Amino acid sequence: MSKGLKTDYLIIGSGVVGMAFADTLLTETDADIIIVDRYAMPGGHWNVAYPFVTLHQPSSFFGVSSMELSRGTIDQIGLNKGLGDLASGAEVSAYFDEVMRQRFLASGRVRYFPMCDYTGNGQFNHKLSGEEFNVDYAHLVDATFMTISVPSTHTPNFDIAEGVRFMPINDLPKVTASPAGYVVIGGGKTAIDACLWLLQQGVDADAIQWIISRDAWLLDRANAQPSEAFVETIINTQAGQFEAIAGAQSIDDMFDRLEACGYLLRLDPSVRPSMFHAATISQAELAQLRRIKNIVRMGHVRAIETDRIVLTQGEIATSPQHLHIDCSASLARSFAHKDIVPIFQGNVITPQPIRAYQPAFSASMIAYVEANYDSDEEKNRLCAHVPLPNQDVDFIPMTLAMMMNQFNWSQDANLRAWIRDNRLDGFSKSIANIDKNDSEKMDIMKRIRDNAFPAVEKLQKFAASLDK
Ligand SMILES: Cc1cc2nc3c(=O)[nH]c(=O)nc-3n(C[C@H](O)[C@H](O)[C@H](O)COP(=O)(O)OP(=O)(O)OC[C@H]3O[C@@H](n4cnc5c(N)ncnc54)[C@H](O)[C@@H]3O)c2cc1C
Repeated sequence: MSKGLKTDYLIIGSGVVGMAFADTLLTETDADIIIVDRYAMPGGHWNVAYPFVTLHQPSSFFGVSSMELSRGTIDQIGLNKGLGDLASGAEVSAYFDEVMRQRFLASGRVRYFPMCDYTGNGQFNHKLSGEEFNVDYAHLVDATFMTISVPSTHTPNFDIAEGVRFMPINDLPKVTASPAGYVVIGGGKTAIDACLWLLQQGVDADAIQWIISRDAWLLDRANAQPSEAFVETIINTQAGQFEAIAGAQSIDDMFDRLEACGYLLRLDPSVRPSMFHAATISQAELAQLRRIKNIVRMGHVRAIETDRIVLTQGEIATSPQHLHIDCSASLARSFAHKDIVPIFQGNVITPQPIRAYQPAFSASMIAYVEANYDSDEEKNRLCAHVPLPNQDVDFIPMTLAMMMNQFNWSQDANLRAWIRDNRLDGFSKSIANIDKNDSEKMDIMKRIRDNAFPAVEKLQKFAASLDK
């Protein structure tokens, strides 16, 4: 016999997306909310992240809108020196726990059901007690669209022979004796974190072998700094980005120009990336990564045997004394099973990115639009889905959709004001505060304005050529 519950909004998932959505809904409405999640704590994949994980972007625009996560400090040491603080995984988890307890539950309007599997049709069951629940809801919010696959919870898609030393990145700190060598598998941010951590621990760069199936374009963290001190850098790179796109003669030329203006980075200047997952790193981190010379570019790993690693384009030697570190979980795989759906569909809301690189802001704004606009048509117009990138060329539809959204938002005075005051929006406030008498910055702003429409036109042209 299942227990009956009734609510205005049933939210599935208490990762950053579910949390940021619920937070803004609490602010903007007097709705009652039920949140269901199969993990024991809010925060989604941060519950199972590796011990040395940190945010990739500054803490100041991560989390929920109503509660600050950043300490407001600039790092004085380490590879993030000179840039805004990056919360550690433990800090992110503690933060979401505090948001849940001090704000959501304390409001008396949120009921939270951790350790519960949602099975559809308003039904979920507690994994430990077995108790079953049936919710009569007015709106369903599926905040699981971006559910992340991480090495600690996924099964690698290659064979691993018995006797091979193999572990997910999470287990690296458990290593007790130095192996013959480290083999890092993966070309994304997780692999970057593994390499950087090993180097920081004093592991010789030559003891690291790094298997990269596809090189990635990377974002420079210096361009994602919300503090006033970085305004000029940010607008300058934005202007450079629009100029690069508007002036590009071809897609390859666009990437070259984006790199030349400092918007994009790559590991090896002689290898053209074919992947873009929006991984964000500092120049100091890049310099460290370039110390690793033993990079294997032979496609995907198919099998790890005791004496060799079989890849799609060849094989390399290994040994039972080598440690193989799985960093192969990919965004592509996480999202592959999801079909894009309109964000607002009757009484179902499926939060997805509406601004690239900013899942928290996206979820918060979707809740704001839900609370303040009427028809699904109008809500979906303001919240057009921004596709997540995987291949390098996915940068084109992603940037195009983001620029179109930004333009639509700029036409709505109330929305513009709300965005400027939302702490999850990194830049609008700083840009709005630029002194009109500061001719240097105003000249840069003019470059942004002059190149925005030509950039959109060029992206449309490139996007059309991709569709053929
Ligand atoms: C290493 C790393 C660093 C990152 N750094 C940043 C950063 O600096 N800035 C930034 O903006 N983003 C960053 N991200 C991305 C961001 O944190 C989120 O991963 C992403 O936006 C997805 O969040 P989510 O809430 O959709 O997914 P998740 O965190 O995966 O949460 C989904 C939740 O849904 C629950 N769930 C799914 N299905 C069910 C079900 N049937 N029943 C019950 N519960 C269910 C899961 O248990 C989970 O808690 C980073 C990601 C990684 C992996």
